[in-house]
Amino acid sequence: MALRDVLKFPDERLRRVSQPIEEITDEVRELARDMLEVMYDEPGIGLAAPQVDAPVRLIVVDTEWTEEEAERNPLVLVNPELVDTSGKITWTEGCLSVPDFEAEVERAERVRLHAEDLDGKEVEIEAEGLQAVCLQHEIDHLDGVLFIDRISRLKRNRYTERRKKQIRREREEAEEA
Ligand SMILES: [Zn+2]
Repeated sequence: MALRDVLKFPDERLRRVSQPIEEITDEVRELARDMLEVMYDEPGIGLAAPQVDAPVRLIVVDTEWTEEEAERNPLVLVNPELVDTSGKITWTEGCLSVPDFEAEVERAERVRLHAEDLDGKEVEIEAEGLQAVCLQHEIDHLDGVLFIDRISRLKRNRYTERRKKQIRREREEAEEA
């Protein structure tokens, strides 16, 4: 089966606020499975459902699998909600929906969050460092927020211009082909 496409900035669908998941149906489980496939294929360390055009509050995160000999050990979180944050950390972030761009973002260094797993069981997650950064990044997606919203306006504008040119070029190339 074909992988789901990842929406790319400036697609307006990335700006929607995603809906809570009321019930974990087969459809939700299938979405989670598809999201893991996309994340591992790209490759990425996190993905939020709205990035594959499903505006519901579901994220997948696996921050260690790209390290040598690390096994895949994904967190699949339904309706994740930050309940506590502390400290500050600056990390260079990228995003599968923001092509060819990375920038430093300041976030909380440690987070605690509530969510449900795919069996509908409540889970509490504590994370720090990269995993905390990644969880905050993915939860942002559920509220229509991208990491480029958290950098300086100057950097964001520069990237937006570059991205517009890139899209124009891609369009022209497609027309010529
Ligand atoms: Zn992202």
